[in-house]
Amino acid sequence: MKRTIAIFTLIFLVAALAGQQQERPANLSGKPQAEIAGIPCQMEELTSPQFAEAVELSGGVCVIPIGIIEKHATHLPLGTDLFEARASVIRAAEKEYAVVFPPYYVGQIFEAMHQPGTIAYSNDLMWQMLEETCRELSRNGLKKIVLFNGHGGSTYFLNYFCQSQLAARKDYIVVLFQGGPDEAMDRQISSLKKSKLDGHAGEEETSMMYLIRPDLVDTEAMGKESGLNQGRLNAMPHAFAGIHWYARYPNHFAGDVLQTNRELGELLITRDAVQLAELIRYLKNNSTIEELHKEFYNRAEYPLKNN
Ligand SMILES: [Zn+2]
Repeated sequence: MKRTIAIFTLIFLVAALAGQQQERPANLSGKPQAEIAGIPCQMEELTSPQFAEAVELSGGVCVIPIGIIEKHATHLPLGTDLFEARASVIRAAEKEYAVVFPPYYVGQIFEAMHQPGTIAYSNDLMWQMLEETCRELSRNGLKKIVLFNGHGGSTYFLNYFCQSQLAARKDYIVVLFQGGPDEAMDRQISSLKKSKLDGHAGEEETSMMYLIRPDLVDTEAMGKESGLNQGRLNAMPHAFAGIHWYARYPNHFAGDVLQTNRELGELLITRDAVQLAELIRYLKNNSTIEELHKEFYNRAEYPLKNN
């Protein structure tokens, strides 16, 4: 056992020495990198000279937490997804420095247009906004862009946006964060949960908002409308339609039991933050994805020559 630990320590030291040139600054104190550098990670808080430093310190990694403005049942604010996404991303960037893009809430939300307060931009604008945001970040030296999605309705759009990056050569890369299982934290999370049905504005989102901004959770308005699946298209077999969500959850609430559990909120935010910090670290210290893009673009330009 001890020998295994010694071998792992040795491997770690060799790896750390090899990566030293890229990892800035050498973080031996265990303090967040941003604290050592003395500069914020949120782009809107940086001065222009600090921004140049931030680009260096981040290794060119920028995360865009993507929210939406839409109804979250009767008790949560319209910007819930934005608050949640930003909480996880800022926490991750404090662990492993990256630039965090300012509040961004342009995404796919046509299915909530019947509810007050929904801001549903057109497809063209959604696409162009993200495309130009990435291009502008790249022009400013942030060449590794991570999209962090806080809103389920934007999932297909963001996956397709990532696929479309291959359509033409670019001098930056875009990846979409995808959280995975964390055995220990997942166990704690399920032990705290009371609901059987938990989705949009449900137990998890309510607990996260209660942790982030308890003043914005209207606890008296909890459960004023039904969050149960109304299954109004259940009889339609083998199909997906845009109206499916509306058929199930017309109140823009999917949940059976609600609770404001800070501990649950904390675990959910932390799980994503830990995994996102791992992704940021990988992108800072590894250039495989850039090399693969270059190789791909070269071959795609002359498919007959290079195959
Ligand atoms: Zn939400």
